[in-house]
Amino acid sequence: MAYIQFLGAAGTVTGSKHLINTGADSGGSKGFQALIDCGLFQGLKEWRERNWQNTPIPAREIDAVVLTHAHLDHCGWIPRLVKEGFRGPIYATPATIDLCGILLPDSGHLQEEDAEFYNKHKKSKHSPALPLYTFEEAQECLQYFRPVPSGETKQLCPEMSFRFVPAAHILGSSMAEITLQTRRQTRRLLFTGDIGRVRDRNIAPGKVVHSGPTEGETADVLVMESTYGNRQHPTEDPRPELAGLIRQTMERGGSVVVPAFAVERTQKFLFMLKELMESGKLPRIPVYCDSPMAIKAVDIFMKHTEEYTEDTHRLVAQYGSPLEWSGFQFALTPEQSKRINESKYPSIIVSSSGMVTGGRIQHHLAQRLPDPRNTVIFIGFQAPGTRGFTIKSGAPEVKIFGEIIPIRAQIAALEQFSDHADTPELLQWLHTFPKKPGATYLVHGDPAASSQLRDTMAKELGWSVQVAQWMQKVPIS
Ligand SMILES: [Zn+2]
Repeated sequence: MAYIQFLGAAGTVTGSKHLINTGADSGGSKGFQALIDCGLFQGLKEWRERNWQNTPIPAREIDAVVLTHAHLDHCGWIPRLVKEGFRGPIYATPATIDLCGILLPDSGHLQEEDAEFYNKHKKSKHSPALPLYTFEEAQECLQYFRPVPSGETKQLCPEMSFRFVPAAHILGSSMAEITLQTRRQTRRLLFTGDIGRVRDRNIAPGKVVHSGPTEGETADVLVMESTYGNRQHPTEDPRPELAGLIRQTMERGGSVVVPAFAVERTQKFLFMLKELMESGKLPRIPVYCDSPMAIKAVDIFMKHTEEYTEDTHRLVAQYGSPLEWSGFQFALTPEQSKRINESKYPSIIVSSSGMVTGGRIQHHLAQRLPDPRNTVIFIGFQAPGTRGFTIKSGAPEVKIFGEIIPIRAQIAALEQFSDHADTPELLQWLHTFPKKPGATYLVHGDPAASSQLRDTMAKELGWSVQVAQWMQKVPIS
């Protein structure tokens, strides 16, 4: 019998990996096996250690990967899958492929840096510590990517096809609608990947991609994310608070440090700063964007105009590429990055990684956290176990590069930047379904968020919903 097995993002928000097996037939065939997403576990060690485990079936027996979007918790394990022997096609939208082309090699580079660091400081129980995959291995896996534009149907095997529809989460992000022909019936499976904001015009300004996930979906089996299953985003415009925080910091003679994902979040934030400065709501202070990947991501954004909202078309027509703006500097080399570090004048530093798990943001925070004149503004989700989570939760100190750094800077967080629908938005989207799915499984959420969303959906929609468990197999009936 055909089944789905949850190999990741079950009981946690990272490591998305869902296996579909079309079922063994009487002729002894093992069935066609497709992975929906192939993400990296991030955050707590207990989860990260699972990145080192092989898939329960040999990687070479997986026939295809269908990738919803380019965030590492959905695509970051692909180089490892290829390293383990996978040689099939990896289907994704053209924008997702472009983004993976920068994100995966960068991830390989960070894995190498981490291994090097552990070896140098003899902090690993494994000797020598090895990277999960290297920069080169990540580049190598890119040859298996195959573009599938949104809306086009792609046959995976005689009994299974799929189509991408916009998920409105980040550039290129999609849900995967799978059609599976079993011996007795046709079954439609919907894997949401991450779901973007539904009503974003006023409360989530600066959104770059499609506004709102595709409405009127149907599914016999729905596999849905639940990151914000127990939360609601603030509904007020974040811009006045952001401008206020930056002004207060400048008056103290401090700088503002913003950890931000290099892709999507950084571009959105830069456009917001630009608009605030152009409208006179923010003084024109230097803005440093210290992330080589964010620079490459800007070019990808400028290319994929098919993904823009009306607002983005207007912003780009008005201001052009952020790479050309005066007062906005992009640091490409480590030397340029160091010069930002040495600067004593008030400025805004936007750098990655967004959860402070690696990258140049670590240098900026190590430098600026001990000084109470500075402010750190979080504009993204911080997974438990990450340095970002520690800093945001009000800890007095944090370990960066093996050193204990005291936290004296002001710490602030603006939740409106989220690219995930919150609970009311998820329900709003689910209400557009013309009929109840036969089965719904919640993935990609902390246990508390997933179980609360399950209860809310049962109460508000009358749907039968289960929280997926790691390694659980569920039949497609
Ligand atoms: Zn995502």
